[in-house]
Amino acid sequence: MLQLRMNSFRKLYCQNWVYQKSPKMSLTSFCKNVKYDVIVIGGGHAGTEACAAAARMGAVTLLITHKKNTVGEMSCNPSFGGIGKGHLMREIDALGGVCSRMCDKSGIQYKVLNKRKGPAVWGYRAQIDRDLYKKNVQEELFQNTENLHVLFAPVEDLLVKHSQTNSNNQPLVDCKGVVLDDGTCITSDCVVITTGTFLRGRINIGLEIYPAGRLGDRSAVGLANTLKSLDLKIGRLKTGTPPRLKKDTIDYTVCTIQKGDNPPLPFSFMNDSVWLKPEDQLDCHLTNTTLAIEDIVKKNLHLNRHVFEEVTGPRYCPSIESKVLRFGGREHQIWLEPEGFDSNVVYPNGLSCTLPEDLQQKLLHTIPGLENATMLRPGYGVEYDFVDPRELYPTLEVKRVNGLFLAGQINGTTGYEEAAAQGILAGINAAAKVQKKPPVIITRTEGYIGVMVDDLTTLGTTEPYRMFTSRAEFRLTLRPDNADQRLTPKGYQVGCVSQERYLKMRDTDQKLKEGIQLLKDIKKSANRWRKLIGAKPSKNHTWKSAFDMLDVYSENITLSRLAEAEPALKHLTLDHMLENRLCIEAQYESAAAEQREEVEEIRKDEMLMIPKDLDYNSKSLSLNSEEKEKLSYIQPQSIAAASRIPGVTPSSLLRLLRFVKQNYYLQEQLGK
Ligand code: FAD
Repeated sequence: MLQLRMNSFRKLYCQNWVYQKSPKMSLTSFCKNVKYDVIVIGGGHAGTEACAAAARMGAVTLLITHKKNTVGEMSCNPSFGGIGKGHLMREIDALGGVCSRMCDKSGIQYKVLNKRKGPAVWGYRAQIDRDLYKKNVQEELFQNTENLHVLFAPVEDLLVKHSQTNSNNQPLVDCKGVVLDDGTCITSDCVVITTGTFLRGRINIGLEIYPAGRLGDRSAVGLANTLKSLDLKIGRLKTGTPPRLKKDTIDYTVCTIQKGDNPPLPFSFMNDSVWLKPEDQLDCHLTNTTLAIEDIVKKNLHLNRHVFEEVTGPRYCPSIESKVLRFGGREHQIWLEPEGFDSNVVYPNGLSCTLPEDLQQKLLHTIPGLENATMLRPGYGVEYDFVDPRELYPTLEVKRVNGLFLAGQINGTTGYEEAAAQGILAGINAAAKVQKKPPVIITRTEGYIGVMVDDLTTLGTTEPYRMFTSRAEFRLTLRPDNADQRLTPKGYQVGCVSQERYLKMRDTDQKLKEGIQLLKDIKKSANRWRKLIGAKPSKNHTWKSAFDMLDVYSENITLSRLAEAEPALKHLTLDHMLENRLCIEAQYESAAAEQREEVEEIRKDEMLMIPKDLDYNSKSLSLNSEEKEKLSYIQPQSIAAASRIPGVTPSSLLRLLRFVKQNYYLQEQLGK
């Protein structure tokens, strides 16, 4: 039942206000005078981006979250970025977001993953000092963000008002604010909910189960009831976190060391370097499980409720129990990640676990290097409500609740970066709505944010959704290096990007255009180029521009080498960042064109029917196990239907299309 609480507006209770710009004004008079444009519920990764984005756009914004000391909390892994996730970080930054800049001043180790592959799929990643990150985020929100007020209190309900019906004849309601747990009502034009795993959250260790949003935090039941009463489609998902270990009880001598990059690459386009020197980075260490854990897991399944629940957990970050059950007889990698410079806590990445505490300790001691490790806190699982993201427009506004936006884990995703990316989009659109500006929609061709939002809002999700480069059809053009060119103008136009950032992007864009033109204008025979730069001679006499010569596949021909042979190019090598970006542009020009053709090939034949007896396990198809599993189960009727299955990559789709044409239709035409 919808609740109408507009009349119960009372004097605000605001004991815990964090003031901005008006420290002398009394709390009560301050609160009385505020009319909010946007209220954001939840100070996690989606919430911090949402409130900061709305405030940057000039919307008078209120962030309401449970506690001051959990604003910017990293609930699970002490790292940001990675494959696919790093792309989201660059896009968030391109829109003026918070987390990428904060990571540049909170990291303890920076490492770009996937370096053996091309720069289009590099994964910017950093190991983060948890406390420092939180401190930096809080400073950014509480001290450096104008138009933003912060209140620490639980939100229990929404203020809603019946309005008309929408185009599908569904009743439409307007969201007009929030109700706190003591009944206080605060009004606003838009509300963004970013409550993560807190909606009806339940923690689970062994057979023990109790309500909580995450360890040490209460769950949000009132708000979960409100969303249900709004008739939104609600589901349940689960995730888990590993035990934490005491650093000085680990034997690192048996582990493999992983060092950070030199130089460490920043996430933010606004930074040329990160806050710490390359040599000051901390090391991570790699160990692995042994087969001894299998016995502990299998013999104690009856004591492990989380493993057998019906609720779906994350496919790509599964618990160690799930890994043993699904991939028995194997060793599994465990990364030992420090949690900060002054922290004695180590996060064993890959060891998410919900066994009873004593068994977790026993399991740890079977792992090389952890034989004597002290467990500081057990791993646990959490199960929570999420809203079917098909309830949302691509702006992240709820279709049938005007002015209500949802972002983050509440929409069925997992991960800080996925949450932050949705947060910034929801914050922008909430503010745009109040300011009567056109909404901001990021398409699949413009960014990974667009891919994620399109996947979620059109397909929904049945398991915690995380970003991968393979989800993007246009990944050769949606690269981490060019996120600023793709998204900063859009952000500037709507008002969430500063002029300084916009001018920096414009300047880079101009230099890139001029550089590309110059590289294309200087032409010599391939053989001549090779002679000049001292490369192996060839018989190729075709004319090639310097741009053509920078092709990735042509044996380490760098811009610096070309510039030695051709002084007119020298100035392009003075700015290292520009030099790198020019090389990447050159590497991808022809491949990106090829990709566009492949996409067109799929589009042209998307109505091609897939025969019922098709064997998805066929070696010639080379599908991965997730794709085989999903395609065999769903049995899509056409290529178009297969393309809508989350996790089936564009390249697999192309192979499937060609396989069907070759083995069925072509054979038919040949009369076989
Ligand atoms: P959160 O960061 O959880 O923030 C939610 C915020 O909302 C909190 O500050 C909370 O206090 C506040 N809040 C909630 N309800 C209310 C209310 N009613 N009133 C006021 N404030 C409220 N991600 C991975 O990628 N891999 C993993 O393995 C992984 N494991 C996880 C394990 C656990 C146990 C947990 C809890 C999370 C895990 N995550 C994992 C997920 C990751 O932490 C989240 O994806 C990410 O933090 C979600 O961001 P968010 O902003 O949506 O929510």
